[in-house]
Amino acid sequence: DKRQRIDKILANMGWGTRKEIKKRMKTGSVVINGKVIQDPGFHVLPNHDRIEIDGELVTYQEYIYLMMNKPAGVLSATEDRFAEVVTDLLDPIHQHFEPFPVGRLDKDTEGLLILTNDGKLAHQLLSPKKHVPKLYYAMVEGEVTEADILAFRQGVILDDGYLTMPSELEILQAGKTSEVELTIYEGKFHQVKRMFIAVGKKVKYLKRLAMGSLYLDPDLEPGEYLELTEEDIAKLK
Ligand code: URA
Repeated sequence: DKRQRIDKILANMGWGTRKEIKKRMKTGSVVINGKVIQDPGFHVLPNHDRIEIDGELVTYQEYIYLMMNKPAGVLSATEDRFAEVVTDLLDPIHQHFEPFPVGRLDKDTEGLLILTNDGKLAHQLLSPKKHVPKLYYAMVEGEVTEADILAFRQGVILDDGYLTMPSELEILQAGKTSEVELTIYEGKFHQVKRMFIAVGKKVKYLKRLAMGSLYLDPDLEPGEYLELTEEDIAKLK
């Protein structure tokens, strides 16, 4: 825990811009440890000092947890010299927390992406030892068959020789283009696409639907996001 400027803390927590907060402080709205503080540069220990705005106690929030429906065409990164990145899609209030995407979806992949500044949670979710299940919906060129279900259950060998862990493939619709759901328990680079290549098929569209027992909110349009509830976060732990 480190001391930070009061205007910065309040801005991060969505109480307004730094300019607005400065104004409110001038009028005596902000009370820290029982004293009116008018200096926006006043330093506080956010988890220790008692901060009130117009009599309302401010509870400091350190972490942020967001669920985004990642749109195609946007990189799962926080910075890129050329392409748009997922954090560009966030409101300034949420950007202040400096969240980063937990894991990666390919540029052309859509669906569930968690963004947080909680490094510990991110680490847990990404730990190869944890085998957090990830559910994908895919449209695949070619007819997906029972043989593919068996192959995926046993593990397939990717182009680099890696044998995948058992995964669960469900055929929603088979045809010239097939629709499937696939649950994998690991996350190698381009894993889903490479698994289908291993059985001679091509993924045309890919969307992540769930991580652990957390499902993408079906009301989220691509590019939209929401803050996770405590309950949602517990599903990830
Ligand atoms: N597998 C892929 O091939 N791409 C993704 O974006 C996610 C899983």
